Amino acid sequence: MIVHSSNLAIIRCQIIAIIKIAPGVHRPRTIGYELSTADSTIFAALIAMLREKILVIGASGQIGVELTLALRKIYGSANVVASDLREQNELLQGTGPYVSLDVMNKEMLHVQVIRQNITQIYLLAAILSATGEKNPHLAWHLNMQGLLNVLDIAKEEKLSKVYWPSSIAVFGPTSPKQNCPQQTIIEPITVYGISKYAGEFWCNYFFNKYGVDVRSLRYPGLISYKSAPGGGTTDYAVEIFHDALEQKHYDCFLQKETYLPMMYMPDAIRATIELMEAPSKNITTRTSYNIAAMSFSPEEIAAAIKKHIPEFSISYAPDYRQAIANSWPQSIDDSVARHDWGWKPEFDLSRMTTDMLENLKLAES
Ligand code: NAD
Repeated sequence: MIVHSSNLAIIRCQIIAIIKIAPGVHRPRTIGYELSTADSTIFAALIAMLREKILVIGASGQIGVELTLALRKIYGSANVVASDLREQNELLQGTGPYVSLDVMNKEMLHVQVIRQNITQIYLLAAILSATGEKNPHLAWHLNMQGLLNVLDIAKEEKLSKVYWPSSIAVFGPTSPKQNCPQQTIIEPITVYGISKYAGEFWCNYFFNKYGVDVRSLRYPGLISYKSAPGGGTTDYAVEIFHDALEQKHYDCFLQKETYLPMMYMPDAIRATIELMEAPSKNITTRTSYNIAAMSFSPEEIAAAIKKHIPEFSISYAPDYRQAIANSWPQSIDDSVARHDWGWKPEFDLSRMTTDMLENLKLAES
């Protein structure tokens, strides 16, 4: 599409369409368009999207791989630069640009943002709950300094948007266990939760003080078949599928009745993109939004898997992660996200279990 002139009411543009006139024979055809009022608003949004160049930091991780692939479908492969400290995940290879980057090296990060003409950053690099408890100082340092580096650069380079995920780990034992609301008592007891809660207020601060359009979601435990989880307390809900298929047995590190809020990755990716594409005026929460999809216990997910694999069995050997899980809510109230930008999950436990097993079997064959 070539835009010749535009103002708030009218956009004059040409769309070059590639028309198939016979099998294997294609001809370009140019169509002139003059769009007015309502159409032009939609087009203006589309044009703005075409101008975006996105940097995903932590792109080789559990969320990063799938988010990068989804963003490339929307914004075009060349406009989404994947980056990570470790090497490129094999699922990203050949799908778009990749740079090796340490978010802690602010100067190099700044150089990349300028060199690549970056307009938006998705910051996913972090140390998660279980790994964080083994090395609290490192978790605090990476989770805080990485965020501050990105926010400073976003402010200086006037980036259009920043995405940074928080977690249900911000909640602690004094928060309500059921339907934990957006605003409530928040006293996290893990270093991961402390870093996420502090991070939420840094986001809020940079929005209010400097106008940085930073948006955030408090993800629950995320379940995916594409990339492996990175050291969280909810990782059992991914491992159980792999072990069910490979060994017909899973030894769970949480007790059987431990309920936790969870979400299937396609819902999490859609939530992230919907939040980022929502009009700024709709975003009333500049700390981080509660979002929810389902809550289940190890016993319940095992029963859901047993419907597909009758010989599957589970045993329980709780470890240090049980105390972390016990400190979190069992279910989350996400009514503010539903109201502000229309959040609605699609996957429940049964639908997710079917989809996970089908896709893991396909990957094996
Ligand atoms: P992950 O551990 O799978 O991926 C993080 C990625 O960041 C890794 O590929 C790692 O190599 C990279 N990284 C680490 N240090 C880096 C550095 N200094 N510079 C550049 N890259 C670096 O984590 P994930 O599960 O994909 O989580 C992404 C974000 O979502 C994190 O902020 C996490 O706290 C949040 N989150 C995840 C979950 C979940 O269930 N996965 C739940 C709640 C919140």
